[in-house]
Amino acid sequence: MLQLWELCANEGYVLFENKALKASEKGILTSDKLQEFFQDIISESYTSQVESQLDLISHGEKDYQELFGSFWEKFEPRVEEAFEKMVEVAIEKMGTKCPRCDNDLVYRFGKYGKFIGCSTFPKCRYISSLNPFNLGFCPQCIEGEKVIKVNRRNQKFIACRNYPECDFVESYEQSKDETEKTTLE
Ligand SMILES: [Zn+2]
Ligand SMILES: [Zn+2]
Repeated sequence: MLQLWELCANEGYVLFENKALKASEKGILTSDKLQEFFQDIISESYTSQVESQLDLISHGEKDYQELFGSFWEKFEPRVEEAFEKMVEVAIEKMGTKCPRCDNDLVYRFGKYGKFIGCSTFPKCRYISSLNPFNLGFCPQCIEGEKVIKVNRRNQKFIACRNYPECDFVESYEQSKDETEKTTLE
């Protein structure tokens, strides 16, 4: 079975940064929205209260139907209200079309700030940086930008900004060739 954090990582709610978990833009936004509509359910005091109630049930001192019944009574109208009132966050369109699939390009937010992506993601994984000196994105983890690094022998090579979480590397020459190829197309 998947651990809860693995599930959150798979869905893009958290990211790994320096071997630590960090909330992604999507995670923060989701949490804000849930807080807005389910404030009294998503709280530490509520969770600990439920935990002690569950303890009572496991000791046969409380009826589980009673607990779930009272939870549901409270929860159901909240869900209905959220469906009705939760506003979808507008995605900012760039006004240009994706060079790969001709759908709209939109601004997205990642670990390193704003970037350009295809509106049909994950169907089309086209991304582009707003940084004119950008070398493109890492083909391995998709999210990190390629950066130039220097090894101990003072040779340049290309690595992923997500290193050490992502171990992508390529030679500096190879990367330069590819950049030239793409501009010639
Ligand atoms: Zn596209
Ligand atoms: Zn990478």
